[in-house]
Amino acid sequence: MNRLEELGEYARSLGCAVSFGEPMNRHTTFRIGGPADLFLTADDTQVLQKLCRRSSETGVRVTVLGNGSNLLVSDAGIRGAVFQLGGKFREIALCGETSVRCGAGASLASLCSFAKSRSLTGMEFAWGIPGSAGGAAFMNAGAYEHCMAEVVSSCSHVTRDGGCGTLRGEDLRYGYRRSAYAENGCIVTSVKVDLKRGDPEAIAARMDELYARRKSKQPLELPSAGSVFKRPEGHYAGTLIEQCGLKGRRVGGAAVSEKHAGFIVNLGGATCGDVRGLIEVIRETVLRETGVELECEIKTAE
Ligand SMILES: Cc1cc2nc3c(=O)[nH]c(=O)nc-3n(C[C@H](O)[C@H](O)[C@H](O)COP(=O)(O)OP(=O)(O)OC[C@H]3O[C@@H](n4cnc5c(N)ncnc54)[C@H](O)[C@@H]3O)c2cc1C
Repeated sequence: MNRLEELGEYARSLGCAVSFGEPMNRHTTFRIGGPADLFLTADDTQVLQKLCRRSSETGVRVTVLGNGSNLLVSDAGIRGAVFQLGGKFREIALCGETSVRCGAGASLASLCSFAKSRSLTGMEFAWGIPGSAGGAAFMNAGAYEHCMAEVVSSCSHVTRDGGCGTLRGEDLRYGYRRSAYAENGCIVTSVKVDLKRGDPEAIAARMDELYARRKSKQPLELPSAGSVFKRPEGHYAGTLIEQCGLKGRRVGGAAVSEKHAGFIVNLGGATCGDVRGLIEVIRETVLRETGVELECEIKTAE
């Protein structure tokens, strides 16, 4: 047995769902990505700690997967193990009067619905972002002038060698689409958000309004990973790309969306190579024509 098979057996003995050669295009909103050597679903913190400890001791590389909505996975797939958070990591509970503790594997959509059902305001901006709470806390996801940093008061995590801890306030080091977790490599296990009492009808109306705006502007009917590039200072990436005449530009099955030039869409059968090729065309053209250097927001895994 090699190290991966051993880790797979160990994970099975802990009750995890285990699969070898799992196609990652099933787990990314881009519908792109080759097989993961080993794909594990951990259902609670103790199991995750054990898996992290064992992989660190045996030198198995670990990639953490949220909802795969900001991820471009290589056509060759992912070497080592991919950890997904299921079971108890999907639980959401009220914590005090106006705070909510959400497992990192729960969807942002469930967190938003939970907050609405308890008449709590503050999460409306995130309605329609197709990530997990953990992925959103890691990325500092945001929309319509608001972001996770405004509501997250603390995150609990498991370290890569199986320890656990919590970061709060300034220690979360939130910035535009970044957090302490992008640097420390820890796996976010739960997120606490501090909200405010609100009027349920106003909350629902705001969610509907923002979703309608999203639907009218974004190509939600095609697979994508959302905005490919970060917003460059003083500009919008989509506007720059459109100004350069790149709407509709294709490489293989990947195209710059006709609806929103900041999105690359999978028209069918796009590969990671196609998307990477198109990103290069966009970056080179925008730099040449406007002098602005675009930086990728989407993460890559291989
Ligand atoms: C149609 C569409 C619209 C979108 N709109 C927006 C938007 O308005 N605003 C916005 O900010 N984003 C948007 N996105 C991008 C994406 O939904 C967000 O970045 C989201 O936060 C990613 O969460 P995820 O769970 O899917 O993470 P993944 O894509 O699975 O992972 C992203 C990164 O986070 C890491 N990660 C995930 N979970 C954890 C964890 N528990 N602990 C540690 N690291 C973790 C991964 O390793 C990876 O590096 C959009 C995407 C799509 C497809």
